[in-house]
Amino acid sequence: MMSRNRFLAAIDRTGGIRTVAYGTGTSIACRELMERTGAWFPEAHLDAQKMASLAMAGHTVLGLDVVMPLFSVCHEAAAMGCRVQWGGPETMPECGRPIFKDEDDIRIPADLLRRPGCKVFGSWTQGYHYFGVENFLIGTLDDPDKTRRILDRLLPVTFAFAQAQIDAGADCILLADHATRDLCSPLAYREFLLPLHRRLAAEIKAPVILHICGNTSDRVGMVAQTGLDCFHWDTKSGRPEQVRAWAGPRLALMGGISNLTLFGGTPDEVIAQRRAAIAGDIDVIGPECAIPLTTPLVNLRAVACG
Ligand SMILES: [Zn+2]
Repeated sequence: MMSRNRFLAAIDRTGGIRTVAYGTGTSIACRELMERTGAWFPEAHLDAQKMASLAMAGHTVLGLDVVMPLFSVCHEAAAMGCRVQWGGPETMPECGRPIFKDEDDIRIPADLLRRPGCKVFGSWTQGYHYFGVENFLIGTLDDPDKTRRILDRLLPVTFAFAQAQIDAGADCILLADHATRDLCSPLAYREFLLPLHRRLAAEIKAPVILHICGNTSDRVGMVAQTGLDCFHWDTKSGRPEQVRAWAGPRLALMGGISNLTLFGGTPDEVIAQRRAAIAGDIDVIGPECAIPLTTPLVNLRAVACG
């Protein structure tokens, strides 16, 4: 089966074709891949040709079935007006200072899609970037209704970027929403995010993969109720078979390879995790999150080619 078909079959557990694919929805960019392709950070964040060459190396050098042409969490923030520092070959970009204090400060620029941003982030992550993590989280306790209104007002940004990617030919949308357990309680996920993620699942007209870092053991079951196609999980959540048990039969799962192992382990350890992921019924096997920029290529190649 060709990579594209294999990947799309793997994330559609209702489709009847059961297969394993290799890949990740988050960044595979690292120094050695930049050397191979000549596409370096920070230019590869904003130059479409360089971005495409670096992303394609995920397939041509690493043998993955899916490529993801964005490597940072700052694109939509840049488009919304944050002063992003794009970093360098060994530093990831940073979003800069918050730009909004109150809900009425929210302005979505009319030329949003012509600005240098196009990654699909949910309202929760956007809330962190525009209001500051601390202010945003305090707001969820002080005035939950206002938080709901803020999340709602930011949703058009998510939809606009998702639709622009579909219009440009994307087969699948990666929706990152950093509702990690240390910053978003299970109750907050249920109250604020479950309804929003349901809307995104219903309204984005392509398969959607939700990415949340960190331990998500208390919310994999809730993600399974959103109608989203696939969940990109972190190995801090538990063993593959345990995560599959929480997810149930319908939700596809992506991940299974620990970033710590990729960064500091050996190819044999990566291969052992791949086998465990296959045995645990994980559909798309790959790194759990954006990899550290100094991850050795030999370990990355072991994910699909080892
Ligand atoms: Zn992550």
